Amino acid sequence: MLTPSTLENLIEALRCLPGVGPKSAQRMAYHLLQRDRQGAQRLVDTLQEALQTLKHCQRCNTFTEAEICDRCLSPKRDPSLLCVVETAVDLNMMEQTQAYSGLYYVLMGRMSPLDGIGPRELLLDSLLTRVSDGVVREVILATNFTNEGEITAHYVSEMLKSRGLRVSRIARGVPVGGELEYVDSGTLAQAMRERKSLLD
Ligand SMILES: [Zn+2]
Repeated sequence: MLTPSTLENLIEALRCLPGVGPKSAQRMAYHLLQRDRQGAQRLVDTLQEALQTLKHCQRCNTFTEAEICDRCLSPKRDPSLLCVVETAVDLNMMEQTQAYSGLYYVLMGRMSPLDGIGPRELLLDSLLTRVSDGVVREVILATNFTNEGEITAHYVSEMLKSRGLRVSRIARGVPVGGELEYVDSGTLAQAMRERKSLLD
């Protein structure tokens, strides 16, 4: 039998989704229970499967079922180019532009001193290892044009100074304060093509 606390737990659990407040969570819970129990079961099953099988690629950190993702292993990608993005969503956005054929490194976040997220919380040590493989020639910083994204780009470019790499930043076709996730493909493609060198 469904006790009130079970329902409350469900509503509370749904609030972990971005942008979902108490009211939407309640609507979702009732919708799943009343109108779409099959959908709810599918959600449970696929979520569980995803949690069990998806892990981070050992080279680029994006989600994959293998140790190293297909993209990192693809002979069609240019391994001398490494594009640094904040999230796996940003990686997908960049891929959709079809303007880039190099590899990626996903930081899984951005520096945010106010929230206590510094270099150590991001995967910057392994980025340093990643770019030191002797194959990477250019690191393209494609973090967001928000304060945090700019701080992150600045930090990484300083970190890569005097390592004999070209370091560039995607161009400002992306508006100030802009997050890659919300920029259209054409603008993002142009920003990639017109990227500016940072350390010359
Ligand atoms: Zn990968």
